[in-house]
Amino acid sequence: MGLAVGDQVAAPLGPRTVRGVVTELRDGHGVNRPLKPLAGRLADPPLPPNTLRFVEWAAAYACEPPGEALALALRGLRVSPPAPERRVQLTGKPPARATAARDRVLQVAVEAMRASLLAAEARVSTGVVKGLLDEGVLKIVQVAVPIAFSPPDPERSSATLNPSQAAAAAAIGGLIAKGGFQVALLDGVTGSGKTEVYLEAVAAALKIDPAAQVLVLLPEIALTQAVLARFEQRFGAAPAEWHSGVSAPRRRRVWEAVATGQCRIVVGARSALFLPFAQLRLVVVDEEHDGAFKQEDGFVYHARDFAVARARIEGAAVVLASATPSLETIWNAQAGRYAWLRLSARHGAARLPEMQLIDLRAEPPERGRWMSPALVGSVARGLARGEQSLLFLNRRGYAPLVLCRACGERMSAPDTDSWLVEHRYSGRLVCHLTGFSMKKPDACPHCAAKDSLTSIGPGVERLEEEARELFPDARVAVFSSDTVMDAEAARRLVARMAEGEIDILVATQAAAKGHNFPGLTLVGVIDADLGLKGGDLRAAERTFQLLAQVAGRAGRADKPGRAMIQTYMPEHAVMQALAAGDRDGFLAAEGEMRELSGLPPYGRLAAVILSSLDGARLEAFARELISAAPVAEGVDVYGPADAPLALVRGRRRKRLLVRAERRVNLQAYIGAWRARVKVPNAVRMNVDVDPYSFL
Ligand code: ADP
Repeated sequence: MGLAVGDQVAAPLGPRTVRGVVTELRDGHGVNRPLKPLAGRLADPPLPPNTLRFVEWAAAYACEPPGEALALALRGLRVSPPAPERRVQLTGKPPARATAARDRVLQVAVEAMRASLLAAEARVSTGVVKGLLDEGVLKIVQVAVPIAFSPPDPERSSATLNPSQAAAAAAIGGLIAKGGFQVALLDGVTGSGKTEVYLEAVAAALKIDPAAQVLVLLPEIALTQAVLARFEQRFGAAPAEWHSGVSAPRRRRVWEAVATGQCRIVVGARSALFLPFAQLRLVVVDEEHDGAFKQEDGFVYHARDFAVARARIEGAAVVLASATPSLETIWNAQAGRYAWLRLSARHGAARLPEMQLIDLRAEPPERGRWMSPALVGSVARGLARGEQSLLFLNRRGYAPLVLCRACGERMSAPDTDSWLVEHRYSGRLVCHLTGFSMKKPDACPHCAAKDSLTSIGPGVERLEEEARELFPDARVAVFSSDTVMDAEAARRLVARMAEGEIDILVATQAAAKGHNFPGLTLVGVIDADLGLKGGDLRAAERTFQLLAQVAGRAGRADKPGRAMIQTYMPEHAVMQALAAGDRDGFLAAEGEMRELSGLPPYGRLAAVILSSLDGARLEAFARELISAAPVAEGVDVYGPADAPLALVRGRRRKRLLVRAERRVNLQAYIGAWRARVKVPNAVRMNVDVDPYSFL
């Protein structure tokens, strides 16, 4: 068959034929089983060698079989290619009889065209075309529809960069010109023009190599459509999008165009990392600190870390951009492994917002309300001046808890350890973990008391209700994943906000990311303490990042902005750092704590999650697993313990945690450990290398 590494093939597997990729060619010598011949080579483009190497690396890193990572890389090929189109083409035979209409057809038909298009362009009836077909002057041909990706023009309309932007862009340009693997941290305050700078980095990569491809990763692309528009403006062509909202046929086209090098810029969510780039020269990870880059289900990986790994394999440059870089990235920059480029001021006349803590113990909201008097006053003054406010509460729905006043019963999910969240728009109680939902009952399901169910605590829907009551003349809108379901809805809402058609935007973190609202001058954080509960190792870091980002939406144009942060813990290090604008001090203190306890980035972590419908089997296997843990220097294994989420969809869950010194090969340790046990069929075992969720 003349196969090469990377070729896609149809391979017999038991009774089925499956898609496979050639990873190695051997002559079969020394194989002690008869090998079945392949069913054939597929017409799809082969996987480029570096994509294959990345896939193999990714599987080994995540402690998964290579096929799992390969499946991610081939995800774009789930649907068949679009059917070829029937077109007509000249055969070379002269027509028996010439007419003016027929002459026009012969002149227009220089290439294969759809019959209807040919007729229209030659200004003849389709009967004329059909006559020529019958006569054998034209013939029908099947043509694969070409993939049209307009090439980006790096010379088109660039912004005039301010001096610090220009310095950062020049530094990145230098790295790209030098070639090979390098990483730059673009560390710039919110509104400093990081996007402008990385657009120039993209242009530099495109200019230096006519075949260069660029990948830009965004944490939640459906919510940040504005970035796509900026690409289109800068390069005169829309980049290819890659995320779950893109249709399957469209994805196949993007996949093929990336593999063949026709598509030069991809803007995508984390899974775009697995696309088969022919010539990847630059990867940009925007908002690199964002937790959404961690894929938690199925094949578990962190897209920022994997982007760096992919670039190393491809010999490409990486730009990590953020106003609140992760501790891991700062640590790499401090050690000199990453070039550290700073933008310390907002562009133009815009200034960073003034930060104000509101101590809820001293200034509590009125009974039944969630906004303190100081925040209410500021929103009112903003309204009077025609300015916009954003009220931030990172909780979907109306109320996070519903309980019975008569018997105290808390409404919880039937098969999962979680309270049901009340959603008023839909009139349902929803489990945010599994999506389970039920109609809100009229009577308590426990004690049957009528009308006794009370909503406890606020969600965005309830906050919207409060805003409407307090400011009946204001135009109020809600931005959460329940009200903004797709890219189009997000684009419309963001556009309305940007054009000043909304006075008060009540939002979850969906609105905290990357948006530019010129008229927004006030950000009110309703419950700053929300993310600090629970013993997550990154709780403080994440809270700092989220609040700094959401505060950073205020005052991005000429009018000064302000963020008011409601908290019961104004003395907490996170709140103090936010108020003082002391990010670096905060990160240094966090880093010291991590170093003392040997936690990332100073040590390595992997979680082992066991789950089963059968509690006794789970218990027994967890004990067997811990006693089988190899003893190794620099490695500690903790657990098994009931997971904080001890029951999900009827499955009991237990966790173990491996902590290792940096020099330890964690994957080899886990491999050796796994080889010592046999996981029973009733138990599922998942390994999460570099865990971000500890639930
Ligand atoms: P960041 O990504 O750092 O939050 P942006 O790139 O979105 O910042 O820039 C913030 C705002 O300032 C945007 O509206 C952007 O168009 C504008 N801006 C930034 N730099 C420039 C520049 N050099 N020239 C013109 N406008 C700029």
